[in-house]
Amino acid sequence: MDAKATLLSIVCPAYQEEESLPFFHAELCKVLDGLAGDFDIEILYVDDGSRDRTLNVIRRIAASDHRVVFLSLSRNFGHQAALSAGLEHATGDVVVSMDADLQHPPAAVPLLLEKWRQGFDVVLSIREQDANLSRFKRWTSALFYLLLRTISNVEIRAAASDFRLLSRRALDALLRMGERHRFLRGMVQWLGFPAAEVRFHPDRRRAGESKYDLRRMATLACDGLFGFSLAPLRLALAVGSLAVLSGLGISAWIVVALVIGRGAPGWVFVLASVHLLGGSILGGLGILGEYVGRIFEQVKARPLYVLKEDSRETDRNESRIPHRGAA
Ligand code: UDP
Ligand code: MG
Repeated sequence: MDAKATLLSIVCPAYQEEESLPFFHAELCKVLDGLAGDFDIEILYVDDGSRDRTLNVIRRIAASDHRVVFLSLSRNFGHQAALSAGLEHATGDVVVSMDADLQHPPAAVPLLLEKWRQGFDVVLSIREQDANLSRFKRWTSALFYLLLRTISNVEIRAAASDFRLLSRRALDALLRMGERHRFLRGMVQWLGFPAAEVRFHPDRRRAGESKYDLRRMATLACDGLFGFSLAPLRLALAVGSLAVLSGLGISAWIVVALVIGRGAPGWVFVLASVHLLGGSILGGLGILGEYVGRIFEQVKARPLYVLKEDSRETDRNESRIPHRGAA
């Protein structure tokens, strides 16, 4: 079996990275040169509508390195969209996505590949505690993942980054997920498949600055929370039901008080009415929310199921991807 037939794609979205890219590419090449015996290599840069000289830098790199191909988006669509474009256009049997600012160390790529060789379709990278990260970013991130774990039924690892490896079958399944608001970390987790983890120490950005300002972080957090849980929609039904129950309790108390002839003060009637009326309205909204939730699930157009194996495909895959037979 010819191991060289295995194509490794490295996908890197880049936005305003004119300064980092040359460093990144040089470092990446050092690592990939060591893998040349085992893999054919495709490096796919995605210029996410940069307004600096990023695209020119990529063109220059592509002209001097035949392994490099690139996409250029018509404007800045954001990291998750740029990454999605790259994943969609990658042709590899195995695909690694990573940032172009050297915060994801190219030296860890062989570790991801080692796990893939062992038969894992998904290899996540987990950031070790990052001393360079601001306390604010660390705390908000921890809070976000805690909330997400609590309200969604997908186990999303805190500190998981978008530096990850996907086998072709995992990537093909991911590409069938039709949602527009993309939180790739969660989507990959949703897929299932045997997954492994590799830990890495994030480096400082080599040059330029982070594009994830507060607004972008909040948008990503909302995509994660709302894309992976209907709990916020169900809140109205839960609170409304509680209010109706307590309204019924107060009403029962009024009836008993009237029957035994003790009478009830006027504010108790008001309280019961408010609970019953407010609860019914909230409950109605909650029921509407249930339908909206179902429409939301429908329009996300995720596949109903993800196949891990189809016996008719197995032979073809085994001849294309050497490790499958051993896995
Ligand atoms: N990026 C992108 N489009 C954007 C923002 C960022 O393609 O709109 C790229 C960026 O060039 C980098 C990666 O996504 O390669 C991660 O972005 P950044 O380093 O700014 O995020 P941080 O590491 O600070 O979370
Ligand atoms: Mg970064």
